[in-house]
Amino acid sequence: MNYPTVIQVDYHPSVAQFPTAQQLESQSRFQQELHETALATARKTFGREVYVRGVVEVSNYCRENCHYCGMRRSNRGLDRYRAEADTLLRVLLEERPQCITDINIQAGEDPVAVREVVIPLVRSLKASTNLGISVCLGTLSPDLTRELQEAGASIYIIKFELANPNLYRDLEAPGTLEERTNHIRWLATEGWAISSGFIAGLPGQDTEAALENFRLADSLPLVGCSVSPFIPGDATPLASATAASLELTLNCMAALRIMRPDWVIPAVSALNLAGPGSGYQRGLLAGANLCTINLTPENLREDYLLYRKDRFIMNEERILSAIQATGCQPSSTSLAQRYARHSTRPELVTA
Ligand code: SF4
Repeated sequence: MNYPTVIQVDYHPSVAQFPTAQQLESQSRFQQELHETALATARKTFGREVYVRGVVEVSNYCRENCHYCGMRRSNRGLDRYRAEADTLLRVLLEERPQCITDINIQAGEDPVAVREVVIPLVRSLKASTNLGISVCLGTLSPDLTRELQEAGASIYIIKFELANPNLYRDLEAPGTLEERTNHIRWLATEGWAISSGFIAGLPGQDTEAALENFRLADSLPLVGCSVSPFIPGDATPLASATAASLELTLNCMAALRIMRPDWVIPAVSALNLAGPGSGYQRGLLAGANLCTINLTPENLREDYLLYRKDRFIMNEERILSAIQATGCQPSSTSLAQRYARHSTRPELVTA
């Protein structure tokens, strides 16, 4: 991959309170206190406003082979698709719920889809709406990344997934951990607002390894970070592994909120799989402040196989009732506007 190697980025993390093993393992009264502190921290920074974005899942082709994902290239049983830019544009222009301020365009690592679908879609959205635009498309070349930015995307979502380099290699996560984190730093120097993320409860990950995720997240130039519960995916090498506990995932989210009061932390849809019925709302009550409405056309959704075919789709009604049930309301400001205001573009420092 021909992009500059970033050795260091002049970036100064501001840790309010670093998580402890006791917090991540907390139960009963201690857990309740942790979540209450996280919620109070989120309310102090963001008030009762929760960001609401839409997501379209553009392509399920992927050149990577992550063991925790059903779209890995070795899964030959999956029907692969690339959506058409015009179809997605029509959905986003005509069927977009009013509460949405940003669109996230997401795909497996598929440069063809980026060129043929994502860039035209971003250009059209930019020309006809004032939506903020984020992309989650993996590690792309500098040229393609810059084309996306020139088209109008300003937020890059790129998860480091896990902070232990050996486990990262064993699980065939994209490239090496060093390449991934260097790419994140390089994106920051290019002016992207970056949100990253990690997986809680991966097989082979103890509490110390979980704490490593926080150390790495805090060292990166991020504006947000997600915590996704490990869900054993169909047709993956981890299909028979044990799923992450909802409680560990929520404790990680709460600890992350306390560590970084300023970060935008999403409630991920997989909380519904880890905790059917209550997981998503409990995420909002543990300090999350971003919800995502799935706008992928129905005929494609089933094949966007992060975990299982029986997806729990977060539609407008489910999102709005979760926000309302936690005493909040959708934000009228977009994520892109927030990040533009709070921009801290780090300087590139190379060897
Ligand atoms: S997690 Fe992302 S990069 Fe890894 S196989 Fe799935 S879609 Fe590809």
